[in-house]
Order: sequence, then structure tokens, then C-alpha cells
Amino acid sequence: MANLAQVYLNGEFLPPDQARVSVFDRGFIFGDGVYEVIPVFGGRLFRLPHHLSRLDASLSAIRLRNPHTPQEWNGIFTRLLAAGSGDQSIYLQITRGVAPRDHAFPPNITPTVFAYAQPLKYSPPEQLAQGVAAVTAADIRWQRCDIKAIALLANALLRQQAIDQGAMEAILVRDGVVTEGAASNIFIVKNGRLVTPPKGPFILPGITRDLVVEIARAKGVPCDELPVKIEALSAADEVWLTSSTKEILPITRIDGRAVGNGKPGPMHAKMFALYKEYKQAFIQGQAD
Ligand code: PMP
Repeated sequence: MANLAQVYLNGEFLPPDQARVSVFDRGFIFGDGVYEVIPVFGGRLFRLPHHLSRLDASLSAIRLRNPHTPQEWNGIFTRLLAAGSGDQSIYLQITRGVAPRDHAFPPNITPTVFAYAQPLKYSPPEQLAQGVAAVTAADIRWQRCDIKAIALLANALLRQQAIDQGAMEAILVRDGVVTEGAASNIFIVKNGRLVTPPKGPFILPGITRDLVVEIARAKGVPCDELPVKIEALSAADEVWLTSSTKEILPITRIDGRAVGNGKPGPMHAKMFALYKEYKQAFIQGQAD
């Protein structure tokens, strides 16, 4: 972190060790805030309107006003990105602000706005070539997982549970159906069809998930947004996770058992190629 040139905090661009937030910030005390992560490919913010509209949805769900217009956000991001090079990602978070500790919302409080850019860490090539391991875990989170809330204690516990079992991701299961990963969305492939859980209160509406669905539909790849039972996960030909920074990653072992033949499948190769094609068109200004 300390090697970042600057961060944005409440209107100022500062070296990270000079950026200070009050110990009474409600983000620190209550986890009362929301965030976004936006990948930047070839110097362009990938799917920016989608990220900003998800931010608006998260903010309105927690009854906070967006402190900036899209133009203002763009200005902040552009300045943060100028200090770096290559593919990067923007992290931004907005908390309700600083007030004496009380669960009730304080009146007339100014939100705390924090953002920084960092180099994008792509998945190592061997993870793409061989796939990664996942474990299943009970989805112990709350019932508003559609809000991109900074309160990620359950997600952190679940991700660590996966790592402790030698896996990369936890696939979360609620009432016998797959919701999503601890920090990703999940797709399965069965008999040439993609299936991903439908949007709703139990999953984050992933920007990468939506893009994969969009590309599949545009290219005539059958794709359903339907509940995925745990039995369907076990019987899948392929399983993938998606996220802005991990893109589309094959999961080839779940709970120690091989998915399909234990290797990344042909549908992953096809969709990942289409995704990279889309990304290339975006970098060249031919897609949003
Ligand atoms: N679900 C959760 C719980 C996540 O944390 C993330 C990414 N951080 C995702 C899904 C994937 O969302 P996106 O494709 O927008 O990165």
C-alpha cells in the first residue's frame, strides 16, 4: 500500500501515509459504507457506467446520496490513474462519515470519500491453464448481498476457510442452492448451456457476470439465469468464477473432487476468447 503514489480522500490527493480518517468514522465503527472496484484496461475504465449505476444502487439501498456526479468521479479516477501505468484498478469507498457512535443516522453528516488506483494483478497463467480449487460453504451472510457493502466480515471468513482448505474460493450455498463465491459470481456449464444464479438479494450483481451473460446471448451461446442446486454444481461439466479482477476463471476441483474431467473445459475456452475479443474492442474504443 505504502508504494502507492497518492490516494484521494475527501477532495484531496495525498500520499497514503498522509491520508487520515477519524476513528469515529462510521465505516470504521459500523462498516457503514459501500464500495466499488473498477478495472482499467488500456487506460480506459471498463464498463464504467455499469459500475457507477451499481454504486448508485448500493448508495440508495443504504440511504446515502452520491457525493459526486459521473463527471466528477471521472476527474478523480483520471488523476489517480495518471500516476500509474499498464492495466490498473480503481477502488473507491464511501462511508456515512464521522459522528459520535450511535446506530441511528446522524443528521447533516458529510460522507467520507476514499479512492485509489493500483496495478491490476492478473490471475497467474497456471490458474487459467489448470483451473483453481474451490470448496463449498454455508452462505452465512445477511439478506442484502446485492449491496456492495464494505462490511465484508462473513466474506473474509469464508474466503479464509477456503484458503485454509488449500482452495482459492468458497462457493456459497444457501438452502441447497448456490448463491455466489466469497468474492465472485459462479457459472456452471451442463450439456453446452451456461447457467448462473439469478439476480436478487442473495448475490452481488457482478459486472463481469452480466457481461458474460450479455456476450453469450449476443453470440448465441445458450445461457440461463436460474437457481443452481448443489446437486447441479456437483454434476456440472464445467464451473467458473467471474469477477472484475479475476475475469473468467475455471474451477476444476470442488471439495477435493474433479469438476468434469478435472481440466478447464471447451466452453470456458470459447467464452474467455469472446470476452478477450470484447475487451480488445473496448480498448480500441469500439465497445463500452
Ligand atoms: N460477488 C461478490 C461477493 C464480490 O465481492 C464480487 C467482486 N468483488 C463479485 C461477486 C463479482 O463482481 P464484479 O464482476 O463486479 O467484480
